[in-house]
Amino acid sequence: MLRTLILRKAPFICKPCVSAGWRLEVRRARSTSTQRPQKPPRKIEVPNRPARTRFAPSPTGYLHLGSLRTALFNYLIAKRTGGQFLLRIEDTDQRRTVPDAEQRLFDDLRWAGLEWDEGPEVGGPYGPYKQSQRTPLYRQHADKLLDSGHAYRCFCTPQRLAELAEHRAKLGLPTDYDRTCANVPKEESDDRASQGEKHVVRLRVPDIYPPFFDLVYGYVGKGLKPATNPKDDAYDDPILLKSDGLPTYHLANVVDDHHMKITHVIRGTEWLPSTPKHLAMYQAFGWQPPNFAHVGLLVDVNGNKLSKRNMDIDVSSYRRYLPEAVNNFVALLGWSHRNRSDVMSMEELVKNFTLKFTTGSVVVTEAKLSYLQNHHQQKHLVPGDPYFEKVVDELVTLIEENQKIQVDENLLSDGGLRARVSDVLRIDNKNFTKTEGFIEEHDYFFSDAAIDCSSAKVAPEKLEAVKIAWQKTFLQIQPDGWTKESLQQAIKESAETLAEYRAKGLPDEEKGRAEKGAKKETWQHLRQALSGGKHGPGVQDTLLVLGHEVCTRRMNTYLSL
Ligand code: GLU
Repeated sequence: MLRTLILRKAPFICKPCVSAGWRLEVRRARSTSTQRPQKPPRKIEVPNRPARTRFAPSPTGYLHLGSLRTALFNYLIAKRTGGQFLLRIEDTDQRRTVPDAEQRLFDDLRWAGLEWDEGPEVGGPYGPYKQSQRTPLYRQHADKLLDSGHAYRCFCTPQRLAELAEHRAKLGLPTDYDRTCANVPKEESDDRASQGEKHVVRLRVPDIYPPFFDLVYGYVGKGLKPATNPKDDAYDDPILLKSDGLPTYHLANVVDDHHMKITHVIRGTEWLPSTPKHLAMYQAFGWQPPNFAHVGLLVDVNGNKLSKRNMDIDVSSYRRYLPEAVNNFVALLGWSHRNRSDVMSMEELVKNFTLKFTTGSVVVTEAKLSYLQNHHQQKHLVPGDPYFEKVVDELVTLIEENQKIQVDENLLSDGGLRARVSDVLRIDNKNFTKTEGFIEEHDYFFSDAAIDCSSAKVAPEKLEAVKIAWQKTFLQIQPDGWTKESLQQAIKESAETLAEYRAKGLPDEEKGRAEKGAKKETWQHLRQALSGGKHGPGVQDTLLVLGHEVCTRRMNTYLSL
């Protein structure tokens, strides 16, 4: 018997079912009404085609944490799907343009490693990528909407509009437009425009905005202000072209996203109220809109919105951190991942990235950034890496400015202070978190006075065997034989000698334990002699960095020889 299962999506059918006579028939969903678009499949976390995304900053300020996050999310989904990430400068608001903002945006994005595939300085097939250079395209499109009746010229003077706004504000109504000019016949409108009468072009919004799906908020339609207010005869009708013939954000943004073939728009929720207007424009042009994802606002621990004007969150002020730590930090602001750890390199972010965002505001805490920084910096704390050298320089400055540590020049090798700092950081990079406190923890590498290497607290009879062990080993080594291999050997042999002494006279079954104890004791005595008992890098590394002369002197002092 043949049994048929009708589905809307191609699913998986197992072999036993096939042999039991089941077959699949995939039918397309019935066409949906224009008002209510078909619900997209729930699992849309990774687009199944290369995504074309864009970061579209306005050069009215510098890159801040929120806009870096927008750029990063768009970058990651493009890279994850093998698509392209575009940069587009939205400089429609010329009055608010900050002169160096554009260059700073480029520098900050490049610092963060978010190289764009198309955009300013790199070009691309859909350029120019700066809106002020695309004015003819926007005018052409405004004309199209005028011709189709989806837009109209508004000749109202700024003064009339101000009076209207004031009147409406008094009634507690939004600053919508009363459509005085909406019914000016097209010929008259063309005529007045050709005679140079000042005007703007407005979108004639539909009575009800088309509902849409947001990848974060789901079905958006209900709850959003309708285009018209039934109790009111005013309309949203946003301006598309200003009286100077330049486009507004709404027109330029939609025209560019369409012409640049953008498939996914990830932006902050502050743009959610603009989206119905954009959707209305896509509908008016007869274009397929991109997918939208509006990600939650960034707030501080008190729930206050992080502000663009707040210089504290300007990305340049995060340059003291590693870009990958900052990216990792920013990626976690509103994206929910399934990775085992929160610590992810850029490659891992790309590999794991999905469009699974959290709804609601996202709290930013700098403690998380410090945590990530500590993890990411480990792989950079190796000599030669620019980050390592930068930390060394900072540590040198800290020592030079530190009154408490008197650097003993005799303790240093030919390379002087910088070489010593570099050695200390190299051998103890695992314990490095921040420059503050690092020198205090390692002061015994810079001064004898920093430590007490006498054996005052150790019982003299305990020390007797240590003395014998060290005299047979470490204290036999000549200055030019103070090498990794000879020190390894000396550590091993002195532990064995000590073990012999500690095991003397013990019953056989206790000897093993005594030997183990002797090994540990050897490390403890060495640490006590070399650093005054301070913990830090491994003993063998410490012996090598401090060198023959300092170590043997400290050992002799310890043994009170
Ligand atoms: N130019 C807008 C901004 O400054 C872009 C908004 C969008 O992504 O559509 O954020």
